[in-house]
Amino acid sequence: MQINGVIGKLIAGFYYVYDHAGNIYECRARGIFRKDDITPLVGDNVVIVEKSEGSYVIDKVLPRKNQLIRPQIANVDIAIVVVASVSPQVSLIALDKLLVNVLKEKVKPVICVNKIDLDDGKTFEMINRQYTVFDVIGVSAKTGEGIDKLKNYIQGRISVFAGQSGVGKSSILNCLIPGANLKVGEISKKIERGRHTTRVVELLRAGKDTYIADTPGFSSIEIIGLLRHELKYYYPEFYDFEGCKFPGCNHIFEPDCVVKAAVNEKKINFERYERYKQIFIQLPAQKEYD
Ligand code: GDP
Ligand code: ZN
Repeated sequence: MQINGVIGKLIAGFYYVYDHAGNIYECRARGIFRKDDITPLVGDNVVIVEKSEGSYVIDKVLPRKNQLIRPQIANVDIAIVVVASVSPQVSLIALDKLLVNVLKEKVKPVICVNKIDLDDGKTFEMINRQYTVFDVIGVSAKTGEGIDKLKNYIQGRISVFAGQSGVGKSSILNCLIPGANLKVGEISKKIERGRHTTRVVELLRAGKDTYIADTPGFSSIEIIGLLRHELKYYYPEFYDFEGCKFPGCNHIFEPDCVVKAAVNEKKINFERYERYKQIFIQLPAQKEYD
């Protein structure tokens, strides 16, 4: 009998696979490896078979859509990018860089402004205004406001949290998975511990075919491995504007630039564009060889 599932965790050579109903199977990887086999990862869609009574093996790993390095996890659909409306104070340039890092890995970001119970509405309004090309939702892990909206986004998908320590990632996770019982601050601690030891990531089941990684991703506050001229590809607000005079226009120094024109006409948010220029000059112009 074959069962389709998703690898939820990996411990000491055993893979723990969830089927669609949420049952968990302890599996070994198939002993004999075929050519083109890939090492199974948490998040992989797999086919398992029962070799003997109660003993399962992973027979097949289905093609991956993407693969994060830290934590090591495949097929991440959504990054829940959490900022706090009050404390810690949001750094918009850090948020911009985080969004670039998420898009670079082919993951869809959802900006989640938490602690709206403490907000006078200003931060939420400001983020909504500047990040119109992204989905922005206001939530409160404390009152439960907005949590249902967030549930709609993660339904049927694999999600990871992102965002600095103290914004409320563990608290939101506890709202999404009442049984998770994470201590406040726990999800961030995991990542610090993970720096020195092997990172063990686990997918928590939050409903049918719905999983959330218990370790946050995209913790680097810098953009790694991107050249200046590549930055523009990770600004979805630029996509609608084509026809710059220079092919490969970076929309900064070049004349006859339709993106700059769109900024002047307020079709692209000016603050986002100003920070784009700041980030641009922080990136290397070309590959450095050593
Ligand atoms: P993490 O480090 O991102 O996992 O953040 P935590 O979930 O540990 O939360 C950090 C602090 O913010 C804790 O003191 C929480 O009680 C508090 N907190 C989290 N969410 C909310 C919220 O929606 N409203 C308020 N008022 N406080 C919150
Ligand atoms: Zn241009």
